[in-house]
Amino acid sequence: MPSAARPYLFNDRTVDSYRDCLTEGIGRVADRIARVRGPFTGIAPDRLATEIARIDLDRPLRDPRAALDELEEVYLRDAVYFHHPRYLAHLNCPVVIPALLGEAILTAVNSSLDTWDQSAGATLIERRLIEWTAARLGLGPAADGVFTSGGTQSNLQALLLAREEARAAEPGRLRVLASEAAHFSVQKSAKLLGLDPGAVVAVPADRDRRMRPDALAWEIERCWREDEVVMAVVATAGTTDFGSIDPLPEIADVCAVTGAWLHVDAAYGCGLLVSPTRRHLLDGIERADSVTVDFHKSFFQPVSSSAVIVRDGACLRHATYHADYLNPATARVPNQVDKSLQTTRRFDALKLWLTLRVMGAEAIGELFDEVVDLAGRVWELLAGDPRFEVAARSQLSTVVFRWLPADPDLADPDLTDPDLIDRANRHARQALGASGRAMVAGTKVDGRQYLKFTILNPETTLEDVAEVLDLIDRFATEFVGDAVGGTVVRV
Ligand SMILES: *Cc1c(COP(=O)(O)O)cnc(C)c1O
Repeated sequence: MPSAARPYLFNDRTVDSYRDCLTEGIGRVADRIARVRGPFTGIAPDRLATEIARIDLDRPLRDPRAALDELEEVYLRDAVYFHHPRYLAHLNCPVVIPALLGEAILTAVNSSLDTWDQSAGATLIERRLIEWTAARLGLGPAADGVFTSGGTQSNLQALLLAREEARAAEPGRLRVLASEAAHFSVQKSAKLLGLDPGAVVAVPADRDRRMRPDALAWEIERCWREDEVVMAVVATAGTTDFGSIDPLPEIADVCAVTGAWLHVDAAYGCGLLVSPTRRHLLDGIERADSVTVDFHKSFFQPVSSSAVIVRDGACLRHATYHADYLNPATARVPNQVDKSLQTTRRFDALKLWLTLRVMGAEAIGELFDEVVDLAGRVWELLAGDPRFEVAARSQLSTVVFRWLPADPDLADPDLTDPDLIDRANRHARQALGASGRAMVAGTKVDGRQYLKFTILNPETTLEDVAEVLDLIDRFATEFVGDAVGGTVVRV
């Protein structure tokens, strides 16, 4: 067949059209991002669903430009833009340009990191970055690890290794101790690993949402008394809601005395590894048996980019299975499939590599410092604002708060109804998103509805946040006004 019939495969006749196509696509998305006026248009799911449903997938356009025009309608116009300074909702970061360059290259070459003969230098680059990360963590000379798809997979793999190392006769007796503020992927992992439904024990946290080491020691003793086996302690370095960092040195002490495997979930807090001013907040992490880092949370990397790092590389063998076509036992070539839960695997490491080679680690750490500084100023702003109540002060870049009606002592007693306040906060969040002006997250604190800023964009200013607070106050006040006017039924 002549190559003209294969215009979309790489060959010497399509090189120019590949370059044009990519330039066109990147140009359009760059313009689109530059034009974005809010983080989201607020479009309703059913309207977008209709647009997407009407596309006939069996009638190709046979023209990348036409497909990009269509994409504008079904995706780009209404996408959620983390680059926007008033995107303040979840743990998503704007991405740095060297990482985007890496993304374009890694998908074009399409290396697969399972074996040397599908990757060559890519395998060595990933290994250098694992070594670099392990050295930043201070895990010692035997450390090793592997890139993963995200913190969920990193936590799962770490807990798999911990389970295998526990070598318990009865899996039903295995327990994982994590603070009540730990990430839900710990529970999900326990389920996937075949542990009992009650295997994850919530260790109480203090007022600042940090695991209490005395409570941890007490729980471990209770496990022993009840003939349960502590398979792992999961400390969180940066809880998703509160940005709290569990007291790592004290927890490491408890683990050292009791022999428990210490996993540190630093999916969010890993940015501190490169912070010029806050690295000390991770002190104690060097005593972990395994660590989760999410470069796509606090290193400004595109999804996906995460890693699980272990103190003793030998324990990665628990993820090793043999396939004649992949890892012949005699081969002395580097082989990452033996360390990973995945087989075919993206060269995500390239994004971090180019980021470090172009910008350097300090520059990333400075960006992370900026958002942590801003979150501190936002916390102070809220603490001095009678319209809001603020929860525990974050060590990272989240701020949990809620709207309160003005002057509750003097006002209508209806206004102090906690359910009404919950609904007003939920409404304000939803109305804000629908307005397209800003996006914030919601969460529960002690059963009550709160709002949450997750600040990961160094372009966000205090003025942006002040504007969002005014909008929240306006939406919540309107809602309560309507409710007290008698249109909303009391719960
Ligand atoms: C986000 C997060 C995870 C999960 O990571 P993904 O990359 O979303 O899979 C795990 N732990 C913590 C503390 C997180 O914030």
